[in-house]
Amino acid sequence: MRLILLGAPGSGKGTQAERLSQSIGLAHIASGDLFRKAVSEGTELGKVAKSYMDKGLLVPDEVTIKMILKRISEIDQGFMLDGFPRTIEQAQALDKALPGHPIDKAIYISVSEEELVRRLSGRRICRECQAPYHVVSSPPKTPGKCDVCGGELYQRSDDTEETVRKRLEVYFAQTAPLIEYYKRDARLAEVDGQRSIEEVSRDILSLLSQKKSEYNHQVAE
Ligand code: AMP
Repeated sequence: MRLILLGAPGSGKGTQAERLSQSIGLAHIASGDLFRKAVSEGTELGKVAKSYMDKGLLVPDEVTIKMILKRISEIDQGFMLDGFPRTIEQAQALDKALPGHPIDKAIYISVSEEELVRRLSGRRICRECQAPYHVVSSPPKTPGKCDVCGGELYQRSDDTEETVRKRLEVYFAQTAPLIEYYKRDARLAEVDGQRSIEEVSRDILSLLSQKKSEYNHQVAE
């Protein structure tokens, strides 16, 4: 199975991808995590990426496509893409690179803009294990410390209010058109992301089991 999780920053793509990839055995490929790793390692890719990330802008397509296709070529199992594609050009490059086994489904997690701003500007992340928290809706038991591993919590430099607004503007201009792109050939499935993490996971899993039974049916025919 080859899946895409589509949605605005703060829609819960990362959280859902992490839960689902473990439960259904897919590799989780998150473009933002790959860029953040390159930034922390101080590589050339990281230096280029940082200059765009800090401004809330997209890293150029050429650089991003190359990084993701390389990562995909390293794995020999199904995968779930989180944060990629983010432009029509990236989606076309992905379709072109996977002719034998294209993307099966793009799952769009929809959340209102007001809720996205609330979630992103209150988000805190553990420096050690990346567990996510929210200052109001899901605070840690001890302020500033991760419940899971005791690591220090921090605010991503691109989660400040000004950068959040810019990221959302970029999302609506460049990424939202992908909803139509995947709708056109019936690969889009939408879930309401404004509910609990568990409810959203349950919806996605039920969508995927539908997809699996359609596939088995086609094979049997
Ligand atoms: P994320 O963690 O997915 O919110 O990504 C953080 C930042 O990484 C984004 O704001 C972009 O600057 C960059 N980035 C991640 N994925 C992509 C992509 N597919 N295309 C371009 N830039 C990306």
